[in-house]
Amino acid sequence: MTQQLDADSLESALTSDAPDLESPCGPRAFAGHRVDLAAAQRAAADFLVALGIDLNEDGLRETPARMVRAYAELFGPKPIQLTTFENAEGYDELVIARGIPFRTVCEHHLLPFSGVAHVGYLPGERILGLSKLARLVEHFAARPQTQERLTKQVADCLSMCVAPRGAGVVLEAEHSCMTLRGVRAIGAMTVTSALHGCLRTDSRSRAEFFALAGVHV
Ligand SMILES: [Zn+2]
Repeated sequence: MTQQLDADSLESALTSDAPDLESPCGPRAFAGHRVDLAAAQRAAADFLVALGIDLNEDGLRETPARMVRAYAELFGPKPIQLTTFENAEGYDELVIARGIPFRTVCEHHLLPFSGVAHVGYLPGERILGLSKLARLVEHFAARPQTQERLTKQVADCLSMCVAPRGAGVVLEAEHSCMTLRGVRAIGAMTVTSALHGCLRTDSRSRAEFFALAGVHV
């Protein structure tokens, strides 16, 4: 059975006044998303059996189905509408959402990594609803990711949709592929940043962004 998880969201996104269908956060980004739950469940069972796990044990019988539901949830698209408003008051200081919690899955090991994101911009002619900064992070986190790409995608999309004078994104995350296995560097945080416009070119704006985001550089 092939199930299209995002049919409703896709429909509403396509019929709305989305400014840019081709944008990385636009509705077309979801057009190819199909989930075949039955096939995934068969594959999950084969995978676990191949690893020597006996699925006849009581607690494990439903594990392939649960596993598939969990991953489908993690990778379920989170469509957003980045509605912008005219910057009527001429606000020209930084707008920052600090400590946005996020979780995603690393594309190399398919193990979770999670942490917080700090997202900010220096408005130009348009401003964005505040909750959209968190939505942006959630949106790009809903797929196998690298922390570097996730950071860049949020910054790129913010710049493209709002055309701010500057945009900055910092992600601080703990990767379970690094803490639970491999080097087992428990507690190690990976920090990434992407800066655009005057946050990149002007050292004072950049320092102010990092200070307000609570990032020590
Ligand atoms: Zn990994």
